[in-house]
Amino acid sequence: MKVPVVDLSPCSLCGACIEVSPSVFRLNDAGHIEIIERISYPKIEVDEAIKYCPEDCIYWEDI
Ligand code: SF4
Repeated sequence: MKVPVVDLSPCSLCGACIEVSPSVFRLNDAGHIEIIERISYPKIEVDEAIKYCPEDCIYWEDI
């Protein structure tokens, strides 16, 4: 199964991923972007978030 991952160190908290795909990305209480736990992830939405992330810090991982 493929899951999206965010590399937090380059993340600038621009919010683009949340805007493009609010069912996958959210801001947690610690002020970091986190992936919402789901049974599966919408490929098109996550690919859009990857495309629009200005820091290139979102990627797919096989688990
Ligand atoms: S789009 Fe990229 S840089 Fe912007 S908040 Fe999301 S993960 Fe961080």
